[in-house]
Amino acid sequence: MAKVQINMKEGRAVHDENLIVGIDLGTTNSLVAYILDGQPVTVKTNDREEALVPSIISIEEGQVLVGEAAKQRLVSNPGQTVYSVKRLMGKSLNDVLHIQPYFSYDLKRDDPDALVRIRIGENYFTPIELSAEILKQLKSLAENHLKKNVTQAVITVPAYFNDAQRQATRDAGRLAGLDVLRIINEPTAASMAYGLGLQEGSNEIIAVYDLGGGTFDLSILHIQDGVFEVLSTHGDTFLGGDDFDRAIMEYWIDRHGMDKEALLADKSRGQSLRLLAEQSKKHLSLHESFSAVWNEYEFTLTRPEMEKLIDPIIQRTIQSCHQALRDAGLNPGDLSKVIMVGGSTRVPAVTKAVKDLFGDKLYDKLNPDEVVALGAAVQANILSGKDQRFLLIDVTPLSLGIETMGGLMDVIIPRNSKIPSKAGRQYTTSVDGQVNLKISIYQGERELVSHNRKLGEFILRNIPPMPAGLPKIEIQFLINADGILTVRAKELRSGVHSEIEVRSQYGLSEEEMARMLLESVKYARQDMQAKALQEAINEGKSIILATERFILQNEAHLSREETDALREKSKYIDEMIPTGDKDRIIQGIEDLNQYSAPIAHRMLDLNIGQALQGTKAI
Ligand code: ADP
Ligand code: MG
Repeated sequence: MAKVQINMKEGRAVHDENLIVGIDLGTTNSLVAYILDGQPVTVKTNDREEALVPSIISIEEGQVLVGEAAKQRLVSNPGQTVYSVKRLMGKSLNDVLHIQPYFSYDLKRDDPDALVRIRIGENYFTPIELSAEILKQLKSLAENHLKKNVTQAVITVPAYFNDAQRQATRDAGRLAGLDVLRIINEPTAASMAYGLGLQEGSNEIIAVYDLGGGTFDLSILHIQDGVFEVLSTHGDTFLGGDDFDRAIMEYWIDRHGMDKEALLADKSRGQSLRLLAEQSKKHLSLHESFSAVWNEYEFTLTRPEMEKLIDPIIQRTIQSCHQALRDAGLNPGDLSKVIMVGGSTRVPAVTKAVKDLFGDKLYDKLNPDEVVALGAAVQANILSGKDQRFLLIDVTPLSLGIETMGGLMDVIIPRNSKIPSKAGRQYTTSVDGQVNLKISIYQGERELVSHNRKLGEFILRNIPPMPAGLPKIEIQFLINADGILTVRAKELRSGVHSEIEVRSQYGLSEEEMARMLLESVKYARQDMQAKALQEAINEGKSIILATERFILQNEAHLSREETDALREKSKYIDEMIPTGDKDRIIQGIEDLNQYSAPIAHRMLDLNIGQALQGTKAI
């Protein structure tokens, strides 16, 4: 039923025109939430009064089934039914070949670098198209429930998703007819569902423990004044409730002396037993024992039996927690809260293990499998302007910049800048008559680009030929709210311009990020020396060029003696460059400058002065 809000002060109905929903597009289950009377609530499925829509798609003769109906077809039509597509989002065939045995479906095998395509019957579908089907289902659930069109959404993704995966998620939204206003991190959303970080002056470090169907991650967040910074995240993308199910299945198979090979070779029977194992697991979250008859077998399981089976799996999650703490340089006592997320945290043994590690500061009042969607709805409400609390701000984890002459990193947007963000700087060329300029974009904290990570490159073409140092090239970096970077370059004298959107195919894990940061500290001294040398070389080269130009332009006014001296001093610098002796190069530059300054002054020619203090060359 649609609700109308009345604004008492102004005595009129508030039209909920810009309702934005929050969507958790999960590996195992997906759901949609919105704000009702100031509180986030999930949209229930029409028939089952249940918010979770299994992230499963089944296609037959063009007809698409999503959710519970598709889940049933895992048993009857396993060949046309697809699950866990989230694992393939934004990935190429090469990226996923090693996990192929995990899936029962076929992938297209022509181009290893192309985005993955999944075979269903005669046709191939991208993970984006299949995710769009899930989103369409959620959209129509929300529309039926709210009795109005839903066109705008906030969608969540794991903190470790890279640009390509985030972009794929956004594309899926667009394909489903949704304008995706923002992509936010799942642990951030979960924190927001509990209202964390929404007050001014907030400052705390928390952990989010997320154990879903097939993935586990622990994220440590620093929340300050509405800024959520991921300090570290560690996990396992093949660890979750599915492993509990598998352990139970194998236990039954063993105990009844069943032929495992034969059973698993029959996809329908295998799936059917897996579903029964899942059912028993869920039952044991609330009860002490389970029993069921399956074909000719009678299966039983008690809670202590199950706990023994799954203990090694739970311990693996605890190891990840230790690692995430180490990566962030923290102890369990430094965290003020631990938020429990994911359906598998309903297992009492999981809660107990997390309490044993972190102490009694678990936040688990909200439904663990709904909390991410609820938080996305809170964020959506803030975006719609109805909630005046803090706007969520993310920060860039590493510095972004371009390569300048000699392989130096020139930072344009420093690490920890708030996003969205925009910054720019002017550069110039290092070679006379240069018409094409390559702009290479890097991420990282090291002084030399060779130690950083390349995100992309493009060429600014058709610059009118000019002497080196004369073109004015403005480079602009824009990071949008999803963290996607656009780089623009423009030669200001001629107006030629070009831009690219950087969607790196292979993202960075938080671990790699942590490593890059550590190395930047470790090699700081060495890097500084390398940078100082390179800067001296760059300056030396440009002064040699400028001197030669100066001589040519002013030949008529220079004495023979002056020309010879300038050339000789220039030559000294040229000879010192290959030796790598920074001090001598600088001494040569100073010597030349000292000698040329009065002459340049006399000529009233700014050329040389310009070249000396000119902008950096690319
Ligand atoms: P995802 O984030 O991967 O989409 P969810 O958070 O929805 O996944 O978690 C799904 C997992 O939670 C499944 O393995 C499911 O069996 C498990 N699960 C759901 N409810 C319970 C329960 N009551 N007890 C134990 N496990 C549960
Ligand atoms: Mg989840």
